[in-house]
Amino acid sequence: MGFGGGDREGGGMSGRWWERVSPHFWRREFVCRCCGECVIDGKLLEGLEALRAKGGIPVCVLSGYRCVRHNREVGGSPKSQHCVGRAADIAIAGVGPGGVFEWAEQVPIFARGGIGLYPWGGFVHVDVGPGPRRWGWMGGRMVGVAAARAACE
Ligand SMILES: [Zn+2]
Ligand SMILES: [Zn+2]
Repeated sequence: MGFGGGDREGGGMSGRWWERVSPHFWRREFVCRCCGECVIDGKLLEGLEALRAKGGIPVCVLSGYRCVRHNREVGGSPKSQHCVGRAADIAIAGVGPGGVFEWAEQVPIFARGGIGLYPWGGFVHVDVGPGPRRWGWMGGRMVGVAAARAACE
């Protein structure tokens, strides 16, 4: 079972952006910022719901699906999980990125995938691609998780 009526939900331009895709998330939060296209993997929604349940407070999705063009514009990796609807950059009000990173590691779906800590951006990247992968990102380059954690304090 998954959210969104299937493992992989492709709304395309015709997808209704105001639709609820899981109990606490709406399609508009995941649409590509440049063109409005949207692909959301049901597993990503399951992980985000688990994360929301852990804190009991809203998880803000800063970036979800990205079309290839938009991904290139924001300097994303060519193999970015954002381009296949399996990644989200998130923040939780009142919880620093270091805390969100820790919570994400306690969600099995994300623990098996990728979790990136962006202390300067103030967000955490989570994805349900092949893993486990962990990284920190500071000053435009990949750093160790320990260094990124230290920057959160
Ligand atoms: Zn786009
Ligand atoms: Zn990301």
